[in-house]
Amino acid sequence: MQEQILTEAAAEIRNLLSNPKDILITSHRNPDGDAIGSSLGLYHYLVQLGHSVKVAFPSEYPSVFAWMPDADKVIVYDIEPDATRLAIEQAEIIFLLDFNSLDRIDKMGELIYAREGAPFIAMIDHHLYPDAYPDYALSDTSASSTSELVFDFIELVGGTAYLNRTIGDCLYTGIVTDTGSFRYSTSPKLFRTVARLLELGIDDYRLQDLIHNQQQERSLRILGYCLYHRMEILDDYRTAIISLSKQDYEKFDIRRGDTEGIVNFALTLKDIRLAFFITEQPNIVKLSIRSKGNLDVQEIARTYFKGGGHKNAAGGMSTVNLNQTIAQVKALLPNYKRRLWQLR
Ligand code: 5GP
Ligand code: MN
Repeated sequence: MQEQILTEAAAEIRNLLSNPKDILITSHRNPDGDAIGSSLGLYHYLVQLGHSVKVAFPSEYPSVFAWMPDADKVIVYDIEPDATRLAIEQAEIIFLLDFNSLDRIDKMGELIYAREGAPFIAMIDHHLYPDAYPDYALSDTSASSTSELVFDFIELVGGTAYLNRTIGDCLYTGIVTDTGSFRYSTSPKLFRTVARLLELGIDDYRLQDLIHNQQQERSLRILGYCLYHRMEILDDYRTAIISLSKQDYEKFDIRRGDTEGIVNFALTLKDIRLAFFITEQPNIVKLSIRSKGNLDVQEIARTYFKGGGHKNAAGGMSTVNLNQTIAQVKALLPNYKRRLWQLR
């Protein structure tokens, strides 16, 4: 690898990592494949250096990722608040992965914020509009995934020799899930990184099988229900809206993770360019928004639903009820009608 010129902050974290530390790695609520893949990939690098490393998430990760190496060691704030609090209090370095604003980790964010100035805060992320407070930030919105950036980070701090198949399995999982199996956010650099992961000996066939083919019967049937009964097509706006009410959650025993990826099915329709998946959660209504081409759903999420994300995949929330939220979505569509029909 060519010699990298380190920024002051990168040199500082490289220096900090040169002797054993208590380190906490955390990621966003409802962690996805990239959140857990990047976190465990970094974890398996740092433990080799002799650090004491904990991974903690605000809420549970989907059970499809339970096979990942040391996934069982992850602490979940919703389940073990005291252990999580202790990990935050003890940490000398805190890594924030796959998110860029402390309010996305709720109570954990407050606890980290309360330790102001004490731990060294490092952020590795690929979302737009990062907060300015971290001591070190590797923030690149052109990256496919945070997992791709964790690979870069390990190389940047001189860890190339420590890259191994375990790290590769984790990072590959994050890359596959965040790119929809290499369908979007790809780049020549990403494929070079993936080539390096393959050279570490990862079994991409096995990993893709583990990532994609572990559906529960219940989840697959919920998908069928959503597509048959709960999807509304607005042809004039090239838009599909799928929604789930509290009653749906109760009737079909829908659990976290069951609805992962459902929004993407709406975009497989020939003329649809914009898709909403709107769900009634205990206290709020949550929106997942997806688009094709250059329609920026991150802007929609930010402008109307206190959210954010990426150009083609964003999310947000609403504090009015489900039907009112759906009405809000329909009311904003005329603003985008022209763009929806001009899309490249
Ligand atoms: P999803 O729809 O899968 O929950 O999220 C899609 C993308 O939008 C992810 O990159 C996620 O980080 C981002 N996102 C989802 N919900 C929110 C939110 O409430 N606030 C912000 N800032 N980003 C979100
Ligand atoms: Mn990501």
